[in-house]
Amino acid sequence: MSDSITQHVSHCILCGKCLQVCPLLRATGREELGPRSKSDLCRVLAEDPAKLSETDAARLAGLCLGCGRCREVCSQGQDVPGLVAALRAAHPNFKSWLWKTWLTRARQLWSPSAKAAGLVPERFRTERLGPMLKMLAGMTGGPGLDPFLTPKTFPDTLRGEKLLLFAGCTANYVQGRWLMAALRLLDGLGAEVLPGDFACCGSGLKGAGFTDESTAMAERNVAVWRKAGRPRITVFCASCLAGLRAYDCFASEAEAAQWADSLLPLSVAVRGIEFVIADNVPERLGYHHPCHAGADDPDRAFLREVLGDRLIRATDAQCCGFGGVMRLAAPGLTEPVNRQCWDALEGADVVLSGCSACLAQLSATAPEDVEVGHWLEIIR
Ligand code: SF4
Ligand code: SF4
Repeated sequence: MSDSITQHVSHCILCGKCLQVCPLLRATGREELGPRSKSDLCRVLAEDPAKLSETDAARLAGLCLGCGRCREVCSQGQDVPGLVAALRAAHPNFKSWLWKTWLTRARQLWSPSAKAAGLVPERFRTERLGPMLKMLAGMTGGPGLDPFLTPKTFPDTLRGEKLLLFAGCTANYVQGRWLMAALRLLDGLGAEVLPGDFACCGSGLKGAGFTDESTAMAERNVAVWRKAGRPRITVFCASCLAGLRAYDCFASEAEAAQWADSLLPLSVAVRGIEFVIADNVPERLGYHHPCHAGADDPDRAFLREVLGDRLIRATDAQCCGFGGVMRLAAPGLTEPVNRQCWDALEGADVVLSGCSACLAQLSATAPEDVEVGHWLEIIR
């Protein structure tokens, strides 16, 4: 256990910056759930695994949203979500087959949500599945947002370029309208979308501790890119993009750099399109900034440019509380995190975002009179 954990441990100088940004710590006020406590505990475990019981390790492994905000601010390169993922990978009991099913069988689970109940194993504690099933229903329910942006003119920035589109599991299996909207925009921009049989980005599995499976997905996706001639890859899910950026299965440093350069957020590709805003534009729009989008969130920049003052609310420090594995391990602890997110969005009639995990969580938890959707849904 110790080797895989040790490689994620670095020297903490106790600056406390990570404590200021951890949404779990902020929402619960419980310091033992914060990033520094987790890294301390992992260090103890790496030095002397016998000091912690299996139960302690499993509990610790469950109590992290995997948002990565602590990693972003740490000057020492401390990777707490990486530590927690390593702990999950090393802990045999944590590899719940249910979670594996949830993530690896996206088609069966996410397509007809009503069937999800049939996949619930009897020995699983069903009270923990309530929020998950509600979230599934949120993913497939309703006709989507009423579009109010119509492209008027397109720039020539992508004209004639051959590129790949990484749509992600949610768009491929649940939200086909996101995929169609992305294809329409790329067509208008004059790009040629190459066929590419990508697998899931694997980031959910990686965070859950399924290292072998997520590595296999990364290798397959890189192979698709190589086969297509290493073109640019446009992506419209912030979590997928973060997952793709974290790949480390390249033949050389040069290839890794080429891969990094090839990743193109769709919201960057569409900059320069002139849009006409229709009368049905909602009066009060909100934007949820996904944790995995990082500080330099291109979706937020695009929407601010197009919508201006119509965007009256935006989250910044608030996590949606999706939390991946934590949603199964401790759903009660993700609720205060989610509440803080909705507090920050108060007053918005429609909330936009660009991350499939955040959108699943927000759709399931939205107040009755608030609609939630991907920013692609507002474009005709
Ligand atoms: S990944 Fe997010 S929830 Fe987990 S310790 Fe870091 S800031 Fe807190
Ligand atoms: S930000 Fe990094 S160095 Fe600072 S307290 Fe957190 S883990 Fe330690």
